[in-house]
Amino acid sequence: MPCINIDGENYTFEAGLTILDALRRIDRAVPHLCHDDRLQPIGACRLCVVEIAGETRPLSSCTTPISDGMQITTRSPHLENLRKTNLSLLAEYYPPEVFHAEPDHAFHRLLREYAVVPAGADRAEKFCDSTHPYLGVAMDRCVHCQRCVRICDEVQGQFVWANWGRGAATHIAPARGDSLIEGDCVACGACVDTCPSGALFDKRSTQTAQQWTHSTCAYCGVGCQLEIGTRDNSIIGIRPVDALVDGPGDASVNRGHLCVKGRYAYEFNSTDDRITTPMLRENGNHLEKPRWRAVSWDEALDFTAKKLIDIRARRGADSIGVLGSARATNEDNYLAQKFARVVIGTNNVDCCARVCHTPSAKALKTMLGTGAATNQFDDIEQTSCFLLCGCNPTENHPIVGARIKQAVRNGAKLIVIDPRRIELGEYADIHLAVRPGHNIQLLNAIAATIVEEKLFDPDFIDTRVDEFSAFTQFIDDYRPEKVADECGVSAADIRAAARLYANSKPAMCFHGLGVTEHLQGTEGVMALINLALLTGNLGKAGSGINPLRGQNNVQGSAHMGCDPSSLTGSQTIKEAGASFEKIWQAPIPQTHGLDLLSMLDAAVAEKFSALWVIGYDIYHSLANTEYTEAALGNLELVIVQDLFLNETARRFGTVFFPAASVFEKDGTFMNSDRRVQRVRAALIPAGDSRPDWWITQQLAQRLGVRAGFDFESAEAIWNEVRAVWPAGAGLSYTRIENESLHWPCPDEKHPGTPVLHRDRFQHAERTALQRIPYIATSEAVDTDHPFLLTTGRTLYAFNAGTMTGRTPNLALRPNDTLDISPQDAEKMQIHDGDDIRISSRHGEVVLPARIRAQIKPGELFATFHNPAMLLNQITSRVRDRLVSAPEYKVTAVRIERL
Ligand code: SF4
Repeated sequence: MPCINIDGENYTFEAGLTILDALRRIDRAVPHLCHDDRLQPIGACRLCVVEIAGETRPLSSCTTPISDGMQITTRSPHLENLRKTNLSLLAEYYPPEVFHAEPDHAFHRLLREYAVVPAGADRAEKFCDSTHPYLGVAMDRCVHCQRCVRICDEVQGQFVWANWGRGAATHIAPARGDSLIEGDCVACGACVDTCPSGALFDKRSTQTAQQWTHSTCAYCGVGCQLEIGTRDNSIIGIRPVDALVDGPGDASVNRGHLCVKGRYAYEFNSTDDRITTPMLRENGNHLEKPRWRAVSWDEALDFTAKKLIDIRARRGADSIGVLGSARATNEDNYLAQKFARVVIGTNNVDCCARVCHTPSAKALKTMLGTGAATNQFDDIEQTSCFLLCGCNPTENHPIVGARIKQAVRNGAKLIVIDPRRIELGEYADIHLAVRPGHNIQLLNAIAATIVEEKLFDPDFIDTRVDEFSAFTQFIDDYRPEKVADECGVSAADIRAAARLYANSKPAMCFHGLGVTEHLQGTEGVMALINLALLTGNLGKAGSGINPLRGQNNVQGSAHMGCDPSSLTGSQTIKEAGASFEKIWQAPIPQTHGLDLLSMLDAAVAEKFSALWVIGYDIYHSLANTEYTEAALGNLELVIVQDLFLNETARRFGTVFFPAASVFEKDGTFMNSDRRVQRVRAALIPAGDSRPDWWITQQLAQRLGVRAGFDFESAEAIWNEVRAVWPAGAGLSYTRIENESLHWPCPDEKHPGTPVLHRDRFQHAERTALQRIPYIATSEAVDTDHPFLLTTGRTLYAFNAGTMTGRTPNLALRPNDTLDISPQDAEKMQIHDGDDIRISSRHGEVVLPARIRAQIKPGELFATFHNPAMLLNQITSRVRDRLVSAPEYKVTAVRIERL
């Protein structure tokens, strides 16, 4: 513990700090301009200089480490003169009018402190750009601190900015192209966030916030912590929680960074087409153009309750279903499933996890005892090797993608398994461009190599793994040389990937829907778990099997019990039904519940009558639109609860309940790595919109159940969740206010569990390798349908486009597209932007073409965000064999240029 003297007083600090860190600890920070805690210090601005006894000249405090016995002077006449001189030099070219008009920039505050007035001399080179929807650039205000260049390189890894020219003509401009957009900017806003001079700015944030509210991002499952700036009940900006200033932010997954969606895509909250009044549909037939009538909450709730009572009396409780929402809070989802079970009397409750990561939850629960990610995102910097399988983090989980990119730049190895050469494929040591539908063969071939070449971890297998011998016999049929041709990759590459994964300790796997949304999705995740079991990559930091969850609370919605076969905390009715009944003071139905896809089947068979869909556009997003249409068209009652008249409401809705948005309510979300984090209301709900849990309670009470549906706050609901879910009992609002905690966290003193399965699996000491035979999907190519199409998201759009489609993100990615290889495009004389008809065995759609070298000949990739395109008209009815997730990732198609 070094003891140092600062301005005549002695202080003791922990080792490893810089002088600037130490000065800030005792609230004696010196001025600085080029420093940002997210960046490597460079000591360029020379403002943070201090005098150190024994040194001949002042040294930068941001680059000099403390050492025992140091004697430091922070403010002397000489130092203050030096700072003033340096500031005057920086201000030589700065426009004085900006200095006067925008007093809040860090540079301007320093100028005022040192009584320096900018001279505004003419500067030859200056880059300005007003073409981007979010970021403004006026480099005549640049003070050459290099923070924009460094943050783009060191945090985002996008390398947009570069220094051009020499000497006095040096200036910062995009490294590529003539604008930010041409320069491959991904609009993360980090350069704006760090710029101290106003040279980079948010074009829309012209006002100062009256209040900043700490909350969790509205988009993906990374769960970034942010602050919502509001003024007069409107959002005027969003910024990352400051990793230094804000205590809990220190542990936040985003470490002071956000992506384009989290930071900028908030305008959906206040668009003109937001519905803020309950509505009833006047004409009953879904084939007619709907006529909606705005009504009071009383009328909407009375009507709905009456219909539900009538349907239950005529057709039974199991003719009714409820879908929770990955966009709603844990508290909302908990109450939704309790409503289905206690008020309606059915286990027919599900959520959109069914169509994305229920296969992951099922595989992880079956093999390891807990259906969630084994490790935390903070292990990214601790791993030696990443295995990315069927996920595209830089587009779909951008903060995790940026952290992986930086870890690879710092030496970690990277294996990418994906049909496309995704962005991280460019950084990969090995890219296995597997043919869509052949994951099982490929993953088995990696396992076969590990066994054959004795790359496995014998100690781990001895102590924790069963059925190794039977597995080695089974897996011999999948040796790389036997399956390589069908997988579309070389046997040598498969063997190289197996060696790299097995020999790099620890190795960490992230997977996405490119694994799960298949006929063998659950088994695909099991095949990944086999690899981790063989190599001992479980139960330690920097290892594990980690599904990247798509939506901010998809982990939470299923975990709260929006699942026909699990109660809150992923507990089965058999295991925990009695304790729930005791707390709920109500019986739990014993009938087998229907999952979302089975509800559609029952509706098509006319055995299902009513569906309450919360925050989920099923008509747009479920595979095979024709089938969804047949099912929803057979329902008597479709209740849609959302911010907008989504496609489900537009076509089939009977009742519309306007929900409060994520910015307008309190509660919690559960992110991909099992953290429970607060969501806080920053705005008053628009119009008559209400939090989902409020709506559920009102409806329950109208159906005659008040007890257990009379909570007064989200926190009160959460306290009941903690009572029914033992592994979450320690996650009180008070604790998560100040700590970033991963469940299991069984009591208020428990530190949380960032890494699962350390000494034993959740359900047992040992677990068995699974022997998974490959089964071919029916979506095979033939002469009529010679291409394999996969579908997925893009950076700028989110799922059904309900939110991002109502923001300026549209300017960055205006439409869905069909990506095609240059070889196929040339053969078929297709050019960028040509309209292409895509026909599958199930339907057809038209999308504009994009020629992309990332696509292999014979394969195609399409996005699905635009409701006008309705891509799911062409996807099939093939489902995962074990949990029914649709096979979105493989459709055989033909294409023609229109
Ligand atoms: Fe939000 Fe995900 Fe982007 Fe983070 S990475 S800001 S959670 S969308």
